[in-house]
Amino acid sequence: MEINMKRLQRRFYEMASIGSTENEGVHRLALSDQDKIARDTFIDWSKQAGFLVRIDDFGNIYVRKEGTASKKPIVIGSHLDTVPKGGKYDGSLGVLAGFEILESLLEIEPLETPVEVVVFTNEEGARFPNPMLGSGAISGVFSKQHVYDMVDDDGITFESELERIGYKGDKANRLKEFEAFFELHIEQGPVLEQQGLPIGLVKGIQGLSWHTVQFTGESDHAGTTPISYRRDPMQSAAKAIMRIGEWVENLGDETLVTFGKISSLPNTINVIPSEVTFSMDIRHPNKKVLLRRIETAKTLIREVALEDDTQSLCEDLSLMLPVLFDESLIDLLQSSCQQHGIGYHEMFSGAGHDAMYMNNLGPTVMLFSPSVNGKSHCEEEETSWEDIEKSVKVLGESVVRLASSVR
Ligand SMILES: [Zn+2]
Repeated sequence: MEINMKRLQRRFYEMASIGSTENEGVHRLALSDQDKIARDTFIDWSKQAGFLVRIDDFGNIYVRKEGTASKKPIVIGSHLDTVPKGGKYDGSLGVLAGFEILESLLEIEPLETPVEVVVFTNEEGARFPNPMLGSGAISGVFSKQHVYDMVDDDGITFESELERIGYKGDKANRLKEFEAFFELHIEQGPVLEQQGLPIGLVKGIQGLSWHTVQFTGESDHAGTTPISYRRDPMQSAAKAIMRIGEWVENLGDETLVTFGKISSLPNTINVIPSEVTFSMDIRHPNKKVLLRRIETAKTLIREVALEDDTQSLCEDLSLMLPVLFDESLIDLLQSSCQQHGIGYHEMFSGAGHDAMYMNNLGPTVMLFSPSVNGKSHCEEEETSWEDIEKSVKVLGESVVRLASSVR
């Protein structure tokens, strides 16, 4: 199968022009007028190429190249919505690479296995709060009512916007099962560029755990209370943050910890605070290790409170366990890379993607293309066409090989 890079680039830049910003980024929020134009354009291309198009009740779009036998489809997908003033590659690359593969398949002997390209609704969570909404809805993570009732910052519901742009389709059209799901996405981080490798084979998505940590002490006068008399929760918070940070640094493994938010009471320059509250985000790709890391962090927090004679409280906000992708699909991508002499790096995704929820429905895998300077979710987002060509080639090759091996 021959990938036509010129055709892919033409479609890519046409898509990037929909909602384009002054600085060559894209502003295309889910279910906005720009999103509608992007969807309409994509469906025009699909119909012109003779593919079947269907839309489900969450506005997810499926473009299907029928197989010669009745089999579960191989599916390639991503999203067309962007964050405010985002880039051209996030999401679009995966959709349009899938579409290019679909078109290239028209030029070879017909496959028995159907192949579909899917566009998921509201992946970014930038307009309607839950990210990966369309893929989460069809895989049972979110109820239909939850999705329909979701409102944007202006109080407009998901359902009314879906109707307004004409994309409220049929429940019967939802993707239910597949032979395999592939998502090509930009890495959105600096690792592949640093490694000098053009493809990331994504073994899974790291788990994450969110907490609110609170230290309570005693509020006193900043000028009249000697240091040794104080029960200062700000000192405890600082100590805990430093101690956990140093512990993670010394681990030297894949553990990540972030304290992104902090507040104090009464938040006054000349008063020792009574209470300091901060957020803690812990991530690791291995479930057991992640759970262990959370426990250790909590122990360190309690130790600090004990030393300082303050009180600590660590509240669990949310836990997303790591996702492991299908090993045989990783092997398939790997052997396609090897066949073409293309280097790759096995890695975990640091961000959530639609593939994460598709993993609930069937065998799923992702591949990454390098992000220039690791930049993403901004107008500077970029990936070289030389690297994209390699990823699309490997993905196309893997789809054809899998299609011919399905019984
Ligand atoms: Zn994305």
